[in-house]
Amino acid sequence: MKNDVTKVIDLSKYTKELSNLFSLSNNILLICHVNPDGDAIGSQLALYQFLKAKGRNVSMLTPNYLQEFLQWMDGADEITIFIKERKKSRKMIEEADLIVMLDFNQPNRLGEAEDFVKASSAKRVIIDHHLDPGTFADLTISDPSKCSTCELLHELLCNMNGTRFLNKSYAEAVYVGIVTDTGNFEHGAYSSRTFRIVADLLETGIEKVKILNLVYNNFSADRLRLEGFALNKRMVVLPEYKTAYIYLSKDDLKEYNHVKGDTEGFVNLPLSIKGIYFTALFIEKDNFIKLSFRSIGNFPTNEFASQYFKGGGHLNASGGEYTDSLSNTIDYFLKALKENVWRFEVNA
Ligand code: 5GP
Ligand code: MN
Repeated sequence: MKNDVTKVIDLSKYTKELSNLFSLSNNILLICHVNPDGDAIGSQLALYQFLKAKGRNVSMLTPNYLQEFLQWMDGADEITIFIKERKKSRKMIEEADLIVMLDFNQPNRLGEAEDFVKASSAKRVIIDHHLDPGTFADLTISDPSKCSTCELLHELLCNMNGTRFLNKSYAEAVYVGIVTDTGNFEHGAYSSRTFRIVADLLETGIEKVKILNLVYNNFSADRLRLEGFALNKRMVVLPEYKTAYIYLSKDDLKEYNHVKGDTEGFVNLPLSIKGIYFTALFIEKDNFIKLSFRSIGNFPTNEFASQYFKGGGHLNASGGEYTDSLSNTIDYFLKALKENVWRFEVNA
């Protein structure tokens, strides 16, 4: 099977090469994906802490803004934001001799930074846990058996360090990545190994309750009302396809004073309905519809996303987009579902 998420790779074979790249480079740039999530920023900050502790010259770049729930993290204010400081960002990319790309594996996830990173003469490294990595790096460390890039990175760095590497800021960053990519240990490829890592992180004295509050309990009242509205008025359940979807128009979002990140997690909600194994979320943007997909079991949402919506991601969590009206996109989705009905029979 192409998307074998159970395959565990031997990280030790990458340690020496990565370690050499770190020590031979004079100007290391860490960059994560557009619309960075907790794992993207967590892995970026964790690697930053590690390299700084080793005395390396390291800087950080994101294609666009960090959401509020990540801005409190140690080092977050040292991240340069491409769309905010384009000239400075381009210079950072040009001057880097090593670019480490975290938590993504396709160049279009670099947003506006894509062309500059592609044109750079720096060595490029990918550290990531998504399926089917692209071939645009000199070294690709890809392990979809890991619940998060943070878990993969932590194992790599411990391997490289010869012993566990931990300090408080680093531990917080890795913890945020693991917690957010597993929905606080609810989904994703977490394992006994994950909990062993988390035990080590907690032993550094990080404040788990404080962090969870900062990450999860900072919603506005409007955000909660939008969730209620989405479930009450914008959720469609299709038992014949074991599927449910939620759609939100620009007007819906406006009515609830939507800010970026408010719809995060909505796509997971209908999976708690008995008999529902596949969910989709449609969000109307200015010129296109953004889609998110989730599944329980074998339904390959990433294949579905890539076949119909120019997207991709993990087996059970992926996304894509479609350039048409909201209603036409939903019609197209329903057609795509029909073509995939055999998959749901298999998964029954
Ligand atoms: P979310 O639904 O949380 O936005 O995204 C879930 C996962 O799907 C992400 O971690 C990412 O791997 C993937 N993903 C989301 N949108 C896209 C997209 O437009 N293209 C690709 N290739 N992957 C996406
Ligand atoms: Mn991730």
